[in-house]
Amino acid sequence: MIIGVPKEIKDKEGRVSLTPAGCKMLVKMGHKVIVEAGAGNISGFSDAEYQAAGAIMEESPAKIFSEADLILKVKEPLPPEYSLLKEGQVLFTYLHLAADKELTEVLLKKKIVGIAYETVELKDGSLPLLKPMSEIAGKMSVQIGARLLEKPFGGKGVLLGGVPGVAPGVVVIVGAGVVGTSAAKIAVGLGAEVYVLDINAERLRYLDDIFGGRVKTLISNEYNLEYAISKADLLIGGVLVPGYKAPRIVTEEMIKKMAPGSVVIDVAIDQGGCIETVDRVTTHSNPTFEKFGVIHYSVANIPGSVPRTSTLALTSATLPYLLEIVNKGWERAIRENQYLAKGVNTFDGKLTNKGVAEAHDMPY
Ligand code: NAD
Repeated sequence: MIIGVPKEIKDKEGRVSLTPAGCKMLVKMGHKVIVEAGAGNISGFSDAEYQAAGAIMEESPAKIFSEADLILKVKEPLPPEYSLLKEGQVLFTYLHLAADKELTEVLLKKKIVGIAYETVELKDGSLPLLKPMSEIAGKMSVQIGARLLEKPFGGKGVLLGGVPGVAPGVVVIVGAGVVGTSAAKIAVGLGAEVYVLDINAERLRYLDDIFGGRVKTLISNEYNLEYAISKADLLIGGVLVPGYKAPRIVTEEMIKKMAPGSVVIDVAIDQGGCIETVDRVTTHSNPTFEKFGVIHYSVANIPGSVPRTSTLALTSATLPYLLEIVNKGWERAIRENQYLAKGVNTFDGKLTNKGVAEAHDMPY
């Protein structure tokens, strides 16, 4: 099979979808790998390393898209890439289609086999290809929030860990999944007062156990959200209903009650966001905006700013699935692997993910 690895074009996105190690494995198995020149640079992988691993380096993304049977990416295709996609091509990447009607329509029109990393789902409901990036985004959300709380960055001037004699800052995390748990690890490590809310009592029980009482857990409902958010210096949104648009459970009224200079980070923005006042996707170049005196941050590719760690974590999770797809062909691969089959969002002009269909009111 011919596998194309284009350079990511999202703002300040430094990840690459394949490392030289993965490339070497594919080539050894008899596949042809075409990598865009410079695609791995920001993650610390040079063109020479890919070449040594057997890749063909190519300057033109158009040529890569036109030659490849399978396009391997990190982030969803952006408008300049839409016309490059080839009818019937396999696309293996994050897609987040529930939040992107235009891209959904492009993939349907071009009969793309769209296999989304974020909807590959194991028996226990976990999302193995979302997990490593959620761990990174969760950890970074506290790091970023702590910085934004500093006065020179527009924040209220609170040090999350406090000091002896001065109370620590309050971090409220909505969603106790992978993002939420990873955020809690860092917030607890900094010495903040941490609240975590979720509708899943079992998740809260698990967090209560692993943090040994260092986080306060609350069932997520309107009353508890209002209570916790009114105290928050830093609010982190990490709610997910897999495949669906995120439910907007944090309302404008709740945000209005936060003190000026507080910080809101909606990590769930890639699925549309779970905080009502977050009405836009921001970028690493221009990451924040202010509403009701509260600083909002809603970058959809947070892990892109630590590309070395993110590329290594992502590609070690995606590679086994990629090998299955290219060695067996996608049809046999999804017939034999029901977890990978959950990743198929579009094929032959049809939508095959219920959440995406409901988000856009399209047939499924
Ligand atoms: P996850 O499935 O591990 O956790 C989601 C949690 O949300 C679950 O515990 C679930 O019970 C909870 N939840 C669902 N509905 C809820 C509700 N109404 N109230 C409270 N909790 C609710 O998901 P995750 O891996 O932690 O990912 C969270 C989000 O972060 C996803 O949208 C993911 O795509 C996104 N993400 C964004 C970035 C970024 O760069 N912005 C990076 C990685 C992940």
